[in-house]
Amino acid sequence: MRILLVEDDEMIAQAVMLALRDHAYAVDRLATGQNVINTLRSSDYQVLLLDLGLPGMDGLEVLKRLRQGGENIPVIILTARDTLEQRLAGFDHGADDYLIKPFYLDELLARLRAVARRLGGQSSGLLENGIVSLDPASRVARRGDLEVTLSAREFGLLQALLLKPGKILTRHELEDQLYGWNEEVESNVVDFLIHGVRRKLGADIIRNVRGVGWCVEKP
Ligand code: CA
Repeated sequence: MRILLVEDDEMIAQAVMLALRDHAYAVDRLATGQNVINTLRSSDYQVLLLDLGLPGMDGLEVLKRLRQGGENIPVIILTARDTLEQRLAGFDHGADDYLIKPFYLDELLARLRAVARRLGGQSSGLLENGIVSLDPASRVARRGDLEVTLSAREFGLLQALLLKPGKILTRHELEDQLYGWNEEVESNVVDFLIHGVRRKLGADIIRNVRGVGWCVEKP
């Protein structure tokens, strides 16, 4: 999953980015609200994490413009504004969730998993396609009686495929779900990760469409 973080506080931004990368999210960060709309158009982001107290344009104004422009990406507000009135304003401007600073990183991660669950149309905590199921909280994948723990990047790759079962993702699209702006994409990483997932769960778990990309079966 690729996430856009809009946060002007350097310490909070670094802590959040570190935690997200640790959990195999690709994360990009903006320090102001100016370029959010253009940035969201530039890549396939799944979630926007939005601070409200931003230099230049306030986060609520950013959110309002996004929604007026028809942008429907899930938005989690991260802010110290904690009154009922402020929280209601956040939801009324189009936020999907609202987390008050200071927050526990574990809680942010849990809320992101909840968003991912809704993106995948799943009501249980698991992502699945009838063949394999993936638990985002533990990174455990199950196929029949087989149960394996995936590495963070293997998880990121299989999650990207399971969020869009039946859809062929290109090498570039898969890399986009694994690496943020300042991270160097390791060469052959997609082949390496697919090999790893297949070795653990069976070669037929990921289908290769020669010259195009990879997909998992539809449920
Ligand atoms: Ca701020």
